[in-house]
Amino acid sequence: MADYTAIITTTPDVTVVAGGDLLRTGNVWHYDLPRARTFGMIASKQYQALSLPFGGVTYTVYALPRHWPLASIALKTTIQAALLYTSLYGPYPYDSLRVAEFSGPWSMEFSGFVVLGASEFDDYDGTLRNRLIRITAHEVSHQWWYGVVGDDQIREPWLDEGLARFNELRYYEAYAPRDVTWWWDNAIGVNRPTAPVNSPVSAFNTHNAYLISVYNQGARFLDALRKRLGVNRFNVFLRDLYQRGAFRLITTQDFLKVLQEDARVDVRGVVRRFLK
Ligand SMILES: [Zn+2]
Repeated sequence: MADYTAIITTTPDVTVVAGGDLLRTGNVWHYDLPRARTFGMIASKQYQALSLPFGGVTYTVYALPRHWPLASIALKTTIQAALLYTSLYGPYPYDSLRVAEFSGPWSMEFSGFVVLGASEFDDYDGTLRNRLIRITAHEVSHQWWYGVVGDDQIREPWLDEGLARFNELRYYEAYAPRDVTWWWDNAIGVNRPTAPVNSPVSAFNTHNAYLISVYNQGARFLDALRKRLGVNRFNVFLRDLYQRGAFRLITTQDFLKVLQEDARVDVRGVVRRFLK
């Protein structure tokens, strides 16, 4: 982890969105981001911002004009997800969390900062069964798993992506239980994994094969562990892993070591089914 300071001078009317404490003087944006994995930033002349302080954290969504009506939806989902992960795993480490729309197709996590692709906004249909809700829950999860608890995203990407996919499920379980079946059918589906959960990125030839084996199978693995341990023990385990892994990098071995200490049941069958 590192402490970042960035001082960015822009041409007029540009909004710079990044993670951390912000001091703005005219066109000069001064960001301070302590104990972070990455300093990411995005800028636009078109952003409109919607902000809400809640529980000691200020949440802000920056949307492009055509999606401005959906800023409040993204903001509500961000806050709901952050409150859920705080209660399940432990505290969020910064005073702010910023979410900014990106005109391209993808979404991505950075420390204190999330980028949501315009295509996620385009998928919004007035219900909770769409990518705007699901991927917001996913990207916010990375503030806990990837941000606070780090991992090697190339060699063991399941540690953050499996948890992010699984936390989509926990979001729906908490806030939209009637949509849980939809989530299983749409986010996970019936595609079969081609490699174990803990495979490196280099094990896959296509993005889809990577998603199925690492993200989706990661969520299946965590769900199977939760069933084996019972939800209370499982929650104790992940809180423990969060506390012990905070501001460090964890490996699959660390995950298994904490699991073995906290499980109180034999988990070897589940572990063998998913991990190599
Ligand atoms: Zn992810």
